[in-house]
Amino acid sequence: MIKTNKFFIACLISLATLAAPSFAQEPMNLALSKSALVNYYDSGEYAKDIDQAARIALEHLKTRLSNKPNDKLAIVLDIDETSLSNYANMKALGFGGSLKQIMHEEKKGNDPAIQPILNLYQFAKANNVAVFFVTGRHPDERTATEKNLMQVGYKNWDGLFFKPKMYWDKSAALYKTKVRKEITELGYKIVLNVGDQQSDLDGGYAEKQVKLPGPFYLIS
Ligand SMILES: [Mg+2]
Repeated sequence: MIKTNKFFIACLISLATLAAPSFAQEPMNLALSKSALVNYYDSGEYAKDIDQAARIALEHLKTRLSNKPNDKLAIVLDIDETSLSNYANMKALGFGGSLKQIMHEEKKGNDPAIQPILNLYQFAKANNVAVFFVTGRHPDERTATEKNLMQVGYKNWDGLFFKPKMYWDKSAALYKTKVRKEITELGYKIVLNVGDQQSDLDGGYAEKQVKLPGPFYLIS
């Protein structure tokens, strides 16, 4: 009887050893992920998605202007991948790069405008709606950023906020929400907040959030 049990257990162990191994779901291959980003951009789908989101933003602003034209209205715009495009630099850096490399490119101050957002900006300014840029860029990028914004057509903004050092190790949402709160306390009604990262939009102090596509990096 004891011998039989031992034989039975040995068989079970052998069967377990022979069972098919269970592999984890392999993440998408990195090279293929980068290729998908390039395809998304080159196919025109990225531009199309931005255009559609910007249209939603513009329609909301128009509606808001017609409903209460005398309110002290404002919109808030993020900069990177919202007002300006870093695509060429991101692609050249293989959708990676160190912070130093990324800031080096930003400080050249030659990023192109994202046209549908420039159109939104110009419509806002033409209709006496204040525009505030709230960016995660560092304060020492101010000169290059201002030059870049002006040379592509963003002129006469009402405020441009850079991320202070005390917030560098914290969520972007924390700093950006604080700035929107301060703008609200100045008496503005922020009718639109537009950004490519969810952290641009979380935290309130805006009537409507519009999310642009942001597949190239993640800022929490
Ligand atoms: Mg951005």
